[in-house]
Amino acid sequence: MSTPYYLPEDKVPLPPPDAEVFTTCCDYCIVACGYKVYRWPVGQEGGVKANENAFKKNFPVGALGRWVSPNQHNIVMANGKPHHVVIVGDSDTEAVNLTGDHSIRGGCIAQKVYNPSKPTKDRTGFKDL
Ligand code: SF4
Repeated sequence: MSTPYYLPEDKVPLPPPDAEVFTTCCDYCIVACGYKVYRWPVGQEGGVKANENAFKKNFPVGALGRWVSPNQHNIVMANGKPHHVVIVGDSDTEAVNLTGDHSIRGGCIAQKVYNPSKPTKDRTGFKDL
């Protein structure tokens, strides 16, 4: 049996201005840092200008600016169609981690959602976000 190659993503789509936005929290520990989930159909993509993406930021941002890593992106089925999801720390939260900070563990919660092309393929339920 051969070992499958791991080909990491080297590009992450930006959510378009009309992406759906949900708030959620990390469930890895009792802190429950806040996150925002941006969801939009596969086939659409936001642009690098502030008026072309849901973050309302010009990209690339500075070295310490908010950017989206490949671990913060995934593809899910929603309403019967494939959708992009980008899950990032919620800098608007009024509860904990007010600046949208998070640990490396929580920062990767986008990888927990079911995707038959990723390690979550061994999960039998929770296929929709
Ligand atoms: S992001 Fe880290 S610190 Fe925050 S709730 Fe998740 S595990 Fe806990």
